[in-house]
This record gives sequence, structure tokens and C-alpha cells, in this order.
Amino acid sequence: MKRSESLQALETTEFDVLVIGGGIFGACAAREASKRGLKVALIEKRDFASGSSSQHFKMLHGGIRYLQHGDLVRVRESIDARRFFFKTLPHLVDPLPIIIPTYNVGTPRWMLAAGVFVYDAVALDRNWGVQASEKHIPGGKVLSKADVFEAFPEIDQQGLTGGVLFYDGQMYNPCRIVVSYVRDADENGAVICNYLNATKILEENGLVQGAEVLDELSGKRFTIRSKSVLNAAGGWAHRLINESLGSAHSPNVNFSRDACFLVKRQISKRNAVAVLGQSKDPDALVSRGARHLFVVPWREYSLVGVWHVVKKEKPEDVYITRQEIETFIEEVNAGYKGLNIQFEDVTISNWGLTLFGENTEDSKDLSYGKRSVLINHAKEQGLKGLVTLIGVRATTSGVMAVQAVNEVEAALNISKSKAVFDSTPAWGGTAIDKSVILSQLDGNAVVADTLYRNYGAGAQDVLAIAGRRPELKKTIDGTHVLAAEIVHAIETELAVKLVDVVLRRTEIGNAGCPSEQAITQCADVMAQVLNWTEEEKLSNIKELKDAYPNIRL
Ligand SMILES: Cc1cc2nc3c(=O)[nH]c(=O)nc-3n(C[C@H](O)[C@H](O)[C@H](O)COP(=O)(O)OP(=O)(O)OC[C@H]3O[C@@H](n4cnc5c(N)ncnc54)[C@H](O)[C@@H]3O)c2cc1C
Repeated sequence: MKRSESLQALETTEFDVLVIGGGIFGACAAREASKRGLKVALIEKRDFASGSSSQHFKMLHGGIRYLQHGDLVRVRESIDARRFFFKTLPHLVDPLPIIIPTYNVGTPRWMLAAGVFVYDAVALDRNWGVQASEKHIPGGKVLSKADVFEAFPEIDQQGLTGGVLFYDGQMYNPCRIVVSYVRDADENGAVICNYLNATKILEENGLVQGAEVLDELSGKRFTIRSKSVLNAAGGWAHRLINESLGSAHSPNVNFSRDACFLVKRQISKRNAVAVLGQSKDPDALVSRGARHLFVVPWREYSLVGVWHVVKKEKPEDVYITRQEIETFIEEVNAGYKGLNIQFEDVTISNWGLTLFGENTEDSKDLSYGKRSVLINHAKEQGLKGLVTLIGVRATTSGVMAVQAVNEVEAALNISKSKAVFDSTPAWGGTAIDKSVILSQLDGNAVVADTLYRNYGAGAQDVLAIAGRRPELKKTIDGTHVLAAEIVHAIETELAVKLVDVVLRRTEIGNAGCPSEQAITQCADVMAQVLNWTEEEKLSNIKELKDAYPNIRL
């Protein structure tokens, strides 16, 4: 992908569908549409995955929770949705064991065990078509008191009756997941550009014509012509419609600011644990007392979350304060006495807008968003060619992409083509012999593994750059990331800023602010490739440092 070529193509081509928004939903939809043979453009006003898709809790939900709501349809959908990632990008996902301890108050162990048993029966096909056996989601089991204590020796033992173990999925690197689907769309002919803002969706006589756009880097404005528009702008989607076409066309949606944080120690190397929080789930059929918070191992860290607050503000006006994080820490420490997390342990906070249920701004026991919003505006408001997709959980993005592209085809008056979904791997998802990577890295197993985890079969592209320029075969200070990955991100993945490379193309800054030396090394490589002046380099470094800890202090 080359930005200048994309810009030229966007100005001169008429597309079948213009996808607005380069989060996980836009990326999956662009992949699905381009693989079905549509002429696709995908634009993102900042960088790919710079919205909620880089900020989430990294869980791939298989839907066990929806048994609680008696929603078997959603359980089944979630199983397909989770498996999509395991089939298309196996190197970027893992099974995640989760333990729910049970006590002599609250939901009894037998009830949770029954849930796990029913789930496993409903989810018999959960691993169908997933090639690597180490990526298979195992069945759950009932745990004794001793099992729970062994896994979490610091857990509160007073009244502990045992627990249950079940498995979900976990993303190794959410940003690389988005970028991999974007690259797949690119390989199938989609024209893709970041830092390109859709300022207005264009319509004439009830027919969508494309969008006016602003190049956020050059300031240039132009029009992209397209027979249809798929609005996948996440927390911005309804506002974009409102501002372009008026409130009559704008969906009535609610959002919460979901938040979690990362601490720099592993509470457990292997298992996630559910901790009782202080709010309740008003939609639960079986009252199980307080809602769970989770402490989850991720790389060498622990992820803690998730908290929800209803937000009506513009996404740009949403933030999180130190005081809020301290309240979250207090709540999770109260639920698991041995945790003893301090604010200073937090390396980064992740938060963003997520589709939510109907709640008032001050409600305590919040109703979650249940389903993604998919609107064909021709059917609902007589506006032909506009489809809106606002996703409720990143997990559902593959499934929803299929449905959204079906609606796009309907809007284009073409017959529905066969869904691609998980029938082929995405970019990097093809199985490879990992020893080939290792042999090119002089046997450095950790670097080889890191490269494989992030790029899968695409690791070869990074190694080809390192082969041409051996000085890029060195790792960035304090990381297992090759300098060649930075050049790869610029040359093939439209990275233009230091934040793009450090936060979203490589794993250098996913978990907290990199060292001063690492930042300088990355900035130096970028400055050389992109001919930055000293001033440009320094302003990129400042922008990066300002991104941490992602909390208003
Ligand atoms: C703390 C937290 C925890 C979560 N945990 C999980 C979890 O564990 N599992 C799970 O499945 N889900 C989880 N979610 C939900 C998940 O993050 C979201 O459902 C998902 O990321 C939404 O993706 P999206 O593509 O719709 O939105 P986004 O990722 O926000 O993407 C929308 C994109 O559109 C772009 N855009 C907006 N306006 C325009 C415009 N005018 N022109 C061009 N581009 C535009 C934005 O810049 C943005 O990049 C969590 C969310 C949060 C915040």
C-alpha cells in the first residue's frame, strides 16, 4: 500500500462501496466485500485501529455469558464469531482459560457447572476447521477448592467452595488483527487510505453518491464517488449521518465508555480469574449477584477490567481520570484481597466508546449493548446506498461483516454472493514452517516467536527487508521487535507517524511507554525513511509520549 497511489485512485475511481472507518468492523467489511469481487475503498480519518479496536480487553467471547440471558441464538452466533479469528488469523489468537471461583454466598458452583456443561454441548463445533490443535478451545470443568487455591494462592478462602473453569479466546495483538484484515482487503483490490476523513456523505435524490473527504495530512479536500457507503465509523457513525444527512436518517444509539487497564505483573501466568464487582446485571434471568470483573494474563502483564459508564459526549470529548482508575483499583482489590494493585502498577489504560444498552447516565446496574446495529437505510428511511454497521463487540466483526456486505449487495441491486467469512485465511494466516523464520534469525527463538505471533506467514516480508538491509536485523531496545518491522510498516502498511508504528503496527508500545532509547531508535529509523526534519522528529516523539499512560492525570 502506498498512500500517494491510494489518494490518486480514490480521486479518479467510482467504487461499488466506500467503507468509512478503519476499526475492526470496517476492516472486516472491506475484506469481505473485496473478496466477493466488489470495487472497494476503505478510509480512516486517523490511523487504522486508533478507535475502540485498539483499546479493548482482547477477549474473543464465545458467548457462554449469554446462557445467563437465555439467549441461545446469541450463544451460537458467538461461537461462529470467535472461530472466525481462530481460522483466519490463528497466529494472533489463543485459547484463554478463565476460572470463576464460587463461594457459599452468590451463585452456587453446581449452577455454574451446569452452565459450562450446557455450553460445551451447544458449542461442540467450536473448533471445526481450526487447523492447529494448540489453538483448539478445550471444554470446561468443575474445580475443587484446592484447584482454585493452587491457581490463585492469594484468593480469599473464606467461604470458598471451589469454582469452574471455562475457555474463551484472547487476541495477542488487536491492532495487528485489524491491519491484517486491512491488508487482506488490499490484496483483493481494495483502495485503502488512513488519515482521510469523510466529512460528508453525499446524497442526491435519495441516492448515495459517495463522500466528501479531507486529507488530514495535506489539508486537501476532494470527493470519492461510490454507488454505496458502508458507515463503520464506530462511536462517530450516528454523528456522521446526522451532520451529513440530518437527524431523520441517524440511528438512535447509546454508547458507554468501556475501560480497563494493564499492570506490569502477572497475577497468574496462565489463568484469568473472575472477581466479583459491585454492580449487577439487570438483564440476567438467573440472578447471580454482582457482575464480574476479570484479571487476565496477557503477555507478561495482567489486564484488569471492564468498567462501563454511559457517555453522551462526542468521542473526542471522552477521557478517563486518575481518580476513576483509582476507584476501579479499589473495587477490584476489594473483590480479590490478595491483588493489592497500586496506581503506580498501571502501565496504560485502555478505553473507548462501545455500543451499549438503554441506560440513564447515572444508572449503576447497567444494561449492556446486546446486538450490533446494522441498518440498510434504503429499507428503513428510503435512502438508497447507505448501510450503517455499529458493532457491539470486536468478536462479532467477522460475522457482522458478512451481514453488512449482504446489505451492501442488496443496496447495489446485485444478487447476494457467497459469503467468504472464514473460508480462507486472512493476510499472514496461512500455516508456515516456523523453523524457516528461526533459521533467518540466527536461532534467536524469542525474536522469531515475536515476529511469528505478530505477522504469521507475513514474517517473511519483514525478513526480506532485514535481508536487504542487515542493520535492520537488530532489535529495538527493551523489546523483541526488529528495526525492519518499522520500515515494513512504512513501506507496506501506510504508517506515517511514530504513534502508528509504536502503538499500532508493532508491539513496541502496546503495553506501556517504551524506553527513551527505544523511542529514539524508532524515531531515527522513521526519520531516515521519511526524510523528517529534526523538528518533525521531535514533534512525533512528543505526540507518542503524550499517548501514555492514556489517563488524564
Ligand atoms: C475497554 C474496552 C473493552 C472491550 N472489550 C472487548 C472484548 O474483550 N472483546 C470484544 O469483542 N469487544 C470488546 N470491546 C468492544 C470493541 O472494542 C468494539 O466493539 C469494537 O472495537 C468496535 O469496533 P469499530 O470498528 O466499530 O469501532 P472503532 O474501532 O472505534 O473504529 C471506528 C473508526 O472509524 C473512524 N472514523 C470515525 N469517523 C470517521 C470519518 N468521518 N471518516 C473516516 N473514519 C472515521 C475512527 O477514527 C475509528 O478508527 C471493548 C471495548 C472497550 C472500549
